Amino acid sequence: MNATEAVQDRIATGRAALARLPHVSLAALPTPLDACPRLTEALAGPTILIKRDDCTGLAFGGNKVRQHEYVLGSAIAAGADCLVQGSASQSNHSRQLAAAGAKLGLETFLLPKLDAMSSPLQGNYLLDHLLGATIIPIAAEQSTIEAKAALVTRLRAEGRTPYVTGMGSDDALALAAVAYVDAVFEIVEQLPEGRTLDWIYTASQGSTQAGLLVGCELLGLPTRVVGVSPMSDSHEAYIAPSGVLDLVRQTASALGFESRVTLDDILADSDFVGPGYGQVNDATIEAIRTLASVEGVLLDPVYTGKAFAALLSHTRAGRFTADETVVFLHTGGLPGIFAYSDELAHPYRGITQPPESGGTPKKSREEPRE
Ligand SMILES: *Cc1c(COP(=O)(O)O)cnc(C)c1O
Repeated sequence: MNATEAVQDRIATGRAALARLPHVSLAALPTPLDACPRLTEALAGPTILIKRDDCTGLAFGGNKVRQHEYVLGSAIAAGADCLVQGSASQSNHSRQLAAAGAKLGLETFLLPKLDAMSSPLQGNYLLDHLLGATIIPIAAEQSTIEAKAALVTRLRAEGRTPYVTGMGSDDALALAAVAYVDAVFEIVEQLPEGRTLDWIYTASQGSTQAGLLVGCELLGLPTRVVGVSPMSDSHEAYIAPSGVLDLVRQTASALGFESRVTLDDILADSDFVGPGYGQVNDATIEAIRTLASVEGVLLDPVYTGKAFAALLSHTRAGRFTADETVVFLHTGGLPGIFAYSDELAHPYRGITQPPESGGTPKKSREEPRE
């Protein structure tokens, strides 16, 4: 415990405000804050700690398990009897929602896109099936927001009370942010003696970053929160910094105060997207291999691999001083590793084969394996 008495008081006040919101228990909290001495030494940079929200527990964990505690708490309080979510086929959000729906006894409707990662059935999309979600695939070109709206209309006509999560549902995005206020409280309580929280790096599309900012503001911390985007502004789910600021204001108001965070405080980085959302590049693969081989911690290819690539690049460029502390928030996404086996296995091709065999032929995404 490193927090001063004043900070401890603010944490208690913040937790009392959170406790007034509808909530269900889904996650194994607090998640660990791991020291990374070998990584810190290898980079000769700042002290790097990893907040392990890949270890939130439910169905391989991730940041949505923490978020769904507030999102689904509110859904249940509003009388919802089923859940609706649409996304890319390898969505971590969909997998964690399907698991939460199963645990809470709420039918979960998923509208996955039939995209490059839906066949063969692997990773998150395989888990969606095992978790018993009602799966209604849509074409890759179709608008997810429109498909969700059409399904909601149909369900209401049948007398159901659906609750919509994810993109296009502003309430759910703000409640997802609320969950990350408490994550800051956990980090501050877990920081080693004498350390200040100078930076937080996270993969984010808006909610996680907004919640972290509000948590830091509530505690009066000077922490800079960097949200590394997995997508460019052309994607339907992209939220611009002004939208993140809106989420910050909604989150603060849900906790009963007015935020003073400004657009200048929204450090959003889209430089590490690579070729596009869900497409892996060399920097991502290098980031995944680096952390895995130095600390034994795995990252995913769609979100955390790109966020960690940003942290590596900024460290090498001298953004941090040696006495600073950077917390990397690991938001999960690990089942994605198995859906991206082709891309991730690439550097090892030939190594695992007998020398005379001449390497492994690349399996085709066009031919589904059964
Ligand atoms: C969904 C997701 C994010 C983004 O979370 P937001 O709350 O939308 O910012 C980041 N990382 C992983 C692994 C995710 O699944």
